[in-house]
Amino acid sequence: MNVLVINAGSSSLKYQLFNMDNETILAKGLCERIGMENMVGHIKHTPLSTGKEPFVADIDLPSHAEAIAAVIEKLTDSEYGVIGSLSEIGAVGHRVLHGGQKFTASVLVDEQVKKAIEDCIPLGPLHNPANLMGINACEKVMPGVPQVAVFDTAFHQTMPKSSYLYAVPYKYYEEYSVRRYGFHGTSHRYVSARTIEALGVPAEGTKVITCHLGNGSSIAAVKDGKCFDTSMGLTPLEGLPMGTRCGSIDPAVVEFIANTEGISTSETLTMLNKKSGVLAVSGVSSDFRDINAAADNGNERAQLALDMFEYGILKYIGAYTAAMGGVDAITFTAGVGENDPDMRKRIMEKLAYMGVTVDEEANRQRGKFALISGPDSKIKVFVIPTDEELVIARDTLEIASK
Ligand code: ADP
Repeated sequence: MNVLVINAGSSSLKYQLFNMDNETILAKGLCERIGMENMVGHIKHTPLSTGKEPFVADIDLPSHAEAIAAVIEKLTDSEYGVIGSLSEIGAVGHRVLHGGQKFTASVLVDEQVKKAIEDCIPLGPLHNPANLMGINACEKVMPGVPQVAVFDTAFHQTMPKSSYLYAVPYKYYEEYSVRRYGFHGTSHRYVSARTIEALGVPAEGTKVITCHLGNGSSIAAVKDGKCFDTSMGLTPLEGLPMGTRCGSIDPAVVEFIANTEGISTSETLTMLNKKSGVLAVSGVSSDFRDINAAADNGNERAQLALDMFEYGILKYIGAYTAAMGGVDAITFTAGVGENDPDMRKRIMEKLAYMGVTVDEEANRQRGKFALISGPDSKIKVFVIPTDEELVIARDTLEIASK
């Protein structure tokens, strides 16, 4: 069966078409500037299975429905297409940001599920409406094709209450569901399962820490194969300092800055989401490649940003090791985790007190599965490339085939 995976953002839509008989990607692409006033949309479509050059064009994309229609047109195009007709798409899998407390696993989309995703809009105000638009657009263009929702929050629903509650009046949890949810769940689920597979033991009894370090970063403590704690919270703002997000800070900073600058709390939060993190500390960029280059050239604030990022990761690893009563394996994934050997090495060297050693040669690998701790290391350290789209495609195939 071919499965189309859709990741719809507020003005963008990423897609991958999988042939699930052999788990290969037939085509992938991106629509941008959807529904933006006075701006023409853009599509980049790469037909991988035919080896043709990508199709790139500016086209009118007034809404997600037109974007989905453009994607289908390209997938079935006589020149750039990879399938003969729409009927060759057996199911569609959607990445949905927030499933609240309702969704602990992926589900087949029906009216009730759509309503529940809508109910979670206050928790994911930027993403859930876009995810719904993607679902509605696919329903319109592909009526009758099963659609599956895969939630970023679902994997973390196994956290115990002592991990997910905030110490604020209980009524905010009871009445408004204010609590830690965690994100990147599809990634943490995939890499923790692969880590346990690599350890070659049953999930029961394992203690794994997964470090998803990208533009957005989060760390998860995974005990017995289930999420025990994670660094992101009610929203993705909590936890590590990230590309542009501040991570955990004293909440009183919000009022202090709002009052001092004469801006609203919502403007302050936008600043903490979009203009903070390593971008703000380094004053250089949110991209770790630029920050690494600046630090190599002696830029002290770039070095400080790297030090703070590294320090945040070390604190979480220490805290989660204590919380789980030990750790068997630590896994790095996502843009930075997969591709930045220097960052990994610095972190691992600081974990020498736990008996971690580095396999220098294995650690030089980028973007590939590798065991990067030394043979004498007390804790195994892995690099495992994440593949959220593949997980979405697998869940979609399984649910749509039932
Ligand atoms: P997201 O999915 O959160 O947007 P990714 O997981 O794709 O992010 O990670 C993107 C980040 O990975 C980039 O911002 C960049 O900082 C970092 N990155 C990619 N390649 C490298 C590299 N070779 N060295 C260091 N950082 C890298």
